[in-house]
Amino acid sequence: MKESEIDLTQTYDAIVVGSGAAGGMAAHVLTSHGMKVLLLEAGKKLDIEQELRSMEWPFDHPRRGEFDSQRIHHSAASLRTWI
Ligand SMILES: Cc1cc2nc3c(=O)[nH]c(=O)nc-3n(C[C@H](O)[C@H](O)[C@H](O)COP(=O)(O)OP(=O)(O)OC[C@H]3O[C@@H](n4cnc5c(N)ncnc54)[C@H](O)[C@@H]3O)c2cc1C
Repeated sequence: MKESEIDLTQTYDAIVVGSGAAGGMAAHVLTSHGMKVLLLEAGKKLDIEQELRSMEWPFDHPRRGEFDSQRIHHSAASLRTWI
């Protein structure tokens, strides 16, 4: 069955509306306990390879190394005068 197809002849144990932080976790917990879950999501399908950045390592950041180390040093020195 394709992701976009819903089998309405199936009886589900639970229907979760929204696959966000709460709904995604709810669906995960319910299915991991063997329940048949229908998860409905109204938003667009995200390409997690392109859009989910939270699991990437900081050193893999595409802008790594762009900061001027002299500016950072100057900012740190300015901060010390405040403390
Ligand atoms: C810019 C930003 C940065 C954030 N950064 C952090 C962070 O670093 N750490 C952190 O802990 N929290 C962060 N948050 C907060 C966190 O994203 C929210 O607290 C969390 O997503 C709320 O979860 P939720 O499941 O309630 O809602 P959502 O994650 O918003 O999920 C709701 C889902 O339901 C879907 N939906 C809505 N209506 C329907 C419908 N009628 N039918 C089907 N689907 C529907 C939506 O498309 C969406 O996917 C951030 C929020 C924002 C906006």
